[in-house]
Amino acid sequence: MEVLRTLAELDNWRLRHSIANPYSLGFVPTMGALHEGHLSLIKTSQAICSHTLASIFVNPTQFNDPKDFEKYPRTTESDIAALQSIQCDALFLPSVEEMYQNPLLSVEPFDIGYLDTILEGAKRPGHYQGVATIVEKLFKAVQPHKVFMGLKDFQQVKVVEKLVMARKFPLEIIGCPTLREANGLAMSSRNMRLPETAKEKASCIYRCLSYTIENKGQKTPLEILEKAKTLHLNLPELTLEYLELRNAQDLSEISMDKWGDHISYVALFAGWLEGVRLIDNMVG
Ligand code: AMP
Repeated sequence: MEVLRTLAELDNWRLRHSIANPYSLGFVPTMGALHEGHLSLIKTSQAICSHTLASIFVNPTQFNDPKDFEKYPRTTESDIAALQSIQCDALFLPSVEEMYQNPLLSVEPFDIGYLDTILEGAKRPGHYQGVATIVEKLFKAVQPHKVFMGLKDFQQVKVVEKLVMARKFPLEIIGCPTLREANGLAMSSRNMRLPETAKEKASCIYRCLSYTIENKGQKTPLEILEKAKTLHLNLPELTLEYLELRNAQDLSEISMDKWGDHISYVALFAGWLEGVRLIDNMVG
């Protein structure tokens, strides 16, 4: 696997490989500390595209809390070994200077609109602006045909889809299912900071989301959400930020008084467990 650290190296790699016939480039952007969830995106890309490139870049502008940026796990050596073990074709591993000072990658601010005012947008001011900025820079640099993103970050997928439409990028976003631990905890780089006992407790998030989605159509959405909270989220160690049910199409609000007939719902959770912020969601 080639490790490309600059835009020039990346351009050179693409020029050498784009003469292949057929040629389709699948791209998996990550912040590293890779786990099976990340690797599943790469395997999906490999099944669909002729070439697969992953990137690792811990993007400073999407961390609204500088301490969170500093504490973010960085495990580049083992990440490279993991990517090599599944025969990923290339890794783009740029520096902050390369992404933010190279004039070829300059971008204009993006109007995220409604999606920036709800859920993660509301809880993490500036986060999606940072995500949109780095994603646009990466798309300009990599020029992929398909981009594989985890539905674990459901709202992020919606933001990036909007960016792709607005900027008319000729590429397809493919949302991929969330990989989970045996107890239902969604895999996440942040789980590395959770003690084992907390990982066990965190399975309540999966149970809460499952309860909500399995009871779609029962009582009212409001009653089911309240019951899900009291049944599954009543742990002293857990601080809930939100548990919401929304329309899975566009994350718009739904009626809390009655279930709709043809609506695909998404239940979304964010909260803190023993100092670690966790998010998860389930569609149904
Ligand atoms: P991150 O490194 O956290 O920015 O994640 C990089 C990509 O991996 C994003 O598209 C995430 O949604 C995706 N991802 C993270 N966790 C999982 C998971 N448990 N299952 C599938 N995809 C995931």
